[in-house]
Amino acid sequence: MSTQKIAVVTGSNKGIGYAIVKGLCERFQGSVYLTARDVDRGKAAIAKLEQLGLSPLFHQLDISDQTSVDRFKEYIQTKHGGLDLLVNNAAIAFKMDATEAFAEQAEKTIEINYFGTLRVCQALFPLLRSSARVVNISSSAGHLSRIPSTDLRAKFGDPNLTVDGLNKLIEKFVIDAKENKSQAEGWGNSAYVVSKVGVSALTLIQQRIFDQEEPNRNISVNSVHPGYVDTDMTSHKGPLTIEEGAKGPLFLALDADLKGKYVWFDCRLIDW
Ligand code: NDP
Repeated sequence: MSTQKIAVVTGSNKGIGYAIVKGLCERFQGSVYLTARDVDRGKAAIAKLEQLGLSPLFHQLDISDQTSVDRFKEYIQTKHGGLDLLVNNAAIAFKMDATEAFAEQAEKTIEINYFGTLRVCQALFPLLRSSARVVNISSSAGHLSRIPSTDLRAKFGDPNLTVDGLNKLIEKFVIDAKENKSQAEGWGNSAYVVSKVGVSALTLIQQRIFDQEEPNRNISVNSVHPGYVDTDMTSHKGPLTIEEGAKGPLFLALDADLKGKYVWFDCRLIDW
């Protein structure tokens, strides 16, 4: 079993995740896993990076599929024995003109962006080695102010909130969406916002848990808004290139000395 350092980026066959893998291949002192839910798309991305003279490794990983996540965990554990960097990048966003009912958008968005991210963390956190880093890709949409209700904001911002408590809060949003009362209950009209506020809130809880663990592995967890980036998700309307979008995530992955913070694409610390 190798003792080299290992980095993993979820959803990295395209967009910002792809650029994060590219940046890590250039600067991370170890092996970098590009992961994708679709093997063909993943391997095509590997081939593109190889043409640039870079050498990422590949493994299939669908964050919404427990079997896929378990298989990946088993593989990393057996092959490498541990993990030094996890970038939770994979996410979806329905387009403004999507025809799916809001309840369906809410369920799918939360399932992938929030519960998928949590699923990966729960599987891989036991493998994190001493001084490992976790970078959760949130969004400006993940700022607490994006939730209209003051009562809900207080619940998300509660310094004693647990992962179970946060899960229940997020599940309540999906129930409210199905009962057509998400606006009335103060969630606003964006499932993506709720999913990303969830990811930002989860980041704080995860850091708190790592800070308290004994023996302490000195693990950092931070979240980042990568900026408004030219990707499929934004229908290529964002002004930033994917390399510019990867700048904040790479700062947290490689350079920053921060724990439990929310950072902007230009590496500024933002009060969540
Ligand atoms: P893209 O849509 O370009 O890429 C998203 C990536 O996530 C794709 O590789 C996609 O794979 C993958 N993905 C989606 N669902 C899953 C899943 N279930 N399991 C594994 N991978 C999955 O998005 P961006 O690059 O723009 O976004 C990257 C991150 O940045 C996201 O977290 C997003 O929310 C965040 N963000 C983006 C902003 C922007 O302006 N672009 C602004 C703020 C935040 P596939 O190709 O198979 O669909």
